[in-house]
Amino acid sequence: MRKDRYFNENWDELSHKISWRELMLRINVLRHSKNIEATHLMHRLLNCSPDERCGSLACPICISIDRKKFTKSVMELLSKSPNKSFITYVPYPILSSDIRIYDINIKYVKDKFRCYLKNSNITSCVVGCVEIDYDFETKRWVPHIHVISEDIPISNLKDMRKKINTKHLSARLEAKAIPLNIKGIYCLKGLCNYIYKFMWQNKPKKSNRNYKVKKNRLSYDLFIDHLVFIDRLTMRDLEFRFRVRRNKDGLTKIP
Ligand SMILES: [Zn+2]
Repeated sequence: MRKDRYFNENWDELSHKISWRELMLRINVLRHSKNIEATHLMHRLLNCSPDERCGSLACPICISIDRKKFTKSVMELLSKSPNKSFITYVPYPILSSDIRIYDINIKYVKDKFRCYLKNSNITSCVVGCVEIDYDFETKRWVPHIHVISEDIPISNLKDMRKKINTKHLSARLEAKAIPLNIKGIYCLKGLCNYIYKFMWQNKPKKSNRNYKVKKNRLSYDLFIDHLVFIDRLTMRDLEFRFRVRRNKDGLTKIP
């Protein structure tokens, strides 16, 4: 092991390129933290190997391997369904700059969205994942859910949008803060890879309101917090499923 920089020598750099580089970056970022949990995590990432994978959601190589399985299961479940949608739900009323990442109740966010689907009499399969970004401008962690849904009748979607908008109206800070975003899907595989990326980022302050800003890496302290937090979680904690069950063979519809 070199003195100035730690290296995980178990994984082959060329076979994993981007995730290998990200793993080394994370190991060396964690190495400089005084947080004991960060040190423990650093050692696990340092020892992760093809024979004994750490399986942590903070490990870019383990994620890149597992992501293939997640993507495959969603493709098998939904690739033949027509009129799929890509839906993003943001629970604006519960966001606050006082909430640390460790205090975010992921189950609550998922239950909330599940209630909206149920109360709008939606019976389509919906599957996706919770993601938590940091909004630099408002200094808040923003948990949100990205999902892929089977065809949902337009009247049910409208009903759900109305219910969500009513609750969110008072909490909306700007007109562009949309609690429910619905889009069509052009590439299901690419979208699955995006949904199961487990790479939480910083949303920088906008200098011009007309342009979309590109998300970037979290600042040092927040990056450490996010790694320690995501390492405590499992895929089961973050995955959102509605009328869908996951077992070892993949996803099946709940009739
Ligand atoms: Zn690993």
